[in-house]
Amino acid sequence: MLVENGVIVSLGSGVEPETDERIDLGGDVVTPGLVNTHHHLYQTLTRARAQEADLFSWLRELYPTWAGIDAEAEYAAARTGLAELALSGCSTVFDHHYVFPRGRTGLVESEVQAAREIGVRIVASRGSMDLGASDGGLPPDGLVEEIDSVLADTERLVGALHEPGPGAHVQIAVAPCSPFSVTKRLMTESAELARRLGLTLHTHLAETMEEEAYCMELYGATPVEYLTDLGWLGADVWCAHCVHLSADDTADFAASGTGVAHCPTSNLRLGAGVAPVREYLDAGVRVGLGVDGSASNERGDLLYEVKQALLVARGRSGPRAMTVREALRLGTRGGAEVLGRDDIGSLEPGKRADFAVWRTDGLELGGADDPVAGLVFSAPHRVDRLVVEGADVVRDGALVNADETEIARAHRVEARRFAA
Ligand SMILES: [Zn+2]
Repeated sequence: MLVENGVIVSLGSGVEPETDERIDLGGDVVTPGLVNTHHHLYQTLTRARAQEADLFSWLRELYPTWAGIDAEAEYAAARTGLAELALSGCSTVFDHHYVFPRGRTGLVESEVQAAREIGVRIVASRGSMDLGASDGGLPPDGLVEEIDSVLADTERLVGALHEPGPGAHVQIAVAPCSPFSVTKRLMTESAELARRLGLTLHTHLAETMEEEAYCMELYGATPVEYLTDLGWLGADVWCAHCVHLSADDTADFAASGTGVAHCPTSNLRLGAGVAPVREYLDAGVRVGLGVDGSASNERGDLLYEVKQALLVARGRSGPRAMTVREALRLGTRGGAEVLGRDDIGSLEPGKRADFAVWRTDGLELGGADDPVAGLVFSAPHRVDRLVVEGADVVRDGALVNADETEIARAHRVEARRFAA
């Protein structure tokens, strides 16, 4: 693989080209850098809480704690979550941040700073909640915002941080939190804003049966019918979870080009169910993987999520439901497609040089004649080397631009403020 100025120029065997630098990866497995399509980095501050809760009780227990978030805590949380992801071979991260307590500034900026320091690409959302408990929503009233300030702040962040075009290291997405925490008006105006500015659009959808019952009661529609009525479905949209889509919903997602961020570990952790991903793929729905927030999946490891996607698909529909390579595709090319990125997610000439290098000489891969299958079946693994745009982010299993021990220590200091 020949890399020039952060871009893959050519791949293959034959005559080796003249180069400034040559790296011998003989015996290793090289995959595209993994792509995470759904996370809440701030939740690293509140792991292992509400241990037996379903989604709504888990949220109700955690919202008051999350109200303490500020830029310092967000920075520490993002550094921790992004470091974990980088060490699992993940080169691009979508973070769905939606908790903006009034008067706190710099939250999105601090996670973008953390991503720049560590060296991974970030798609950061200016999320939102405006449907408080007194109006029939789930979050406490103190944690919801006014529509106008949400939209104005989103536009401000786009002007300050969003990079259009291929090779972007920082992008902004528009991501109202969920049907049960956002008003119809904010959902509609968020979509209008995203389409006016050419941004992608994201929300949580159809995660639990309780959410479906909630939507039926409040809107007289299922979650997908509700989104359809709002004009949300489209090729610029992807939704997290989609555990409970009907066959008609699936067809609507496929026809409209709407994508899915499949988060198997989080769905198992909260007992939400298992998304029918085989059916989505067969129908032609775009599907990527997400680790989801660290309070509902305490391990931010995308290669592990590849394995989980494989296992839950097989648990649902038998051993032929998904191959190892299909699972790996979800975590790479599938994720890139979901994020609307045609510049990453695969190793091909013209793509950005984002790749992960995995050793195969450790204990776990002994006896595995197919090292790609061995890698996924025996996940998780620490990546040996992670390269983003041709630059090392992880080398010899350690962060190049940051100190893991220092990140963990600083995170403990901030996390103490969020103790149960
Ligand atoms: Zn989520």
